[in-house]
Amino acid sequence: MIIILLGPPGAGKGTQATRIMNNNGLVQLSTGDMLRAAVAAQTEVGKKAKDFMDSGKLVTDDIVIGIIADRIEEDDCKSGFLLDGFPRTVAQAEALDQLLINKGLKLDAVVEMKVNDESLVDRITGRYTCAECNQGYHDTNLKPQKAGVCDSCGSTNFNRRSDDNRETVVSRLATYHAQTAPLLPFYEAQGVLKTIDGMADIDDVTVQINDVLKQL
Ligand code: ADP
Ligand code: AMP
Repeated sequence: MIIILLGPPGAGKGTQATRIMNNNGLVQLSTGDMLRAAVAAQTEVGKKAKDFMDSGKLVTDDIVIGIIADRIEEDDCKSGFLLDGFPRTVAQAEALDQLLINKGLKLDAVVEMKVNDESLVDRITGRYTCAECNQGYHDTNLKPQKAGVCDSCGSTNFNRRSDDNRETVVSRLATYHAQTAPLLPFYEAQGVLKTIDGMADIDDVTVQINDVLKQL
């Protein structure tokens, strides 16, 4: 199965990708996570991507298409994958179509997670993750059961993304509306777009996505 989770920054793509992956044996491919790893490792890709990411702009299409083209060749993608944060432009979507055609694969569904902009600002500015296992949390919406201790691995170290600040969020939302929202009619025309209510609580969103996947 090949699924795209499509939605603005903070819509809950990463949160849901982890849950769906655990239940369906799909691999989560997050270009944001891959790019952050490249920045941390100071690779050539990371050096090129850093300024775009810090300012809430998109990294160039050639870089992210290259990353995905390489990643889907790996063995763990053979039984399917869940794209989180890719594609983000029509050019990326067209490149993905071509990559899938070349491999004889087909896109099963694009799940649009609809969330209003005010909630996105709150979700992004309250977001943090476990520094060890990357489990995601939120200051008010999703706290660890024991304050300061990761539910998944017991670590007491947490990270906040440097781009999760109010100024960059405004720029990231504007980027989404200008460059990524055109993917909605693009996938609607392909007959693969499924829209769910991303404003619902986290468990309810998981149920909605699983219902979409069951119908495929
Ligand atoms: P994305 O990957 O789309 O950028 P995340 O999955 O990282 O978004 O979610 C952003 C923040 O919002 C996280 O702190 C997460 O805990 C929280 N969150 C995710 N889904 C919901 C939801 N349905 N309701 C409230 N908060 C949510
Ligand atoms: P995310 O973790 O998905 O919020 O992405 C963080 C940042 O990485 C974005 O603001 C972009 O700068 C960059 N990025 C991630 N995915 C893409 C993509 N598909 N195309 C361009 N830039 C991306």
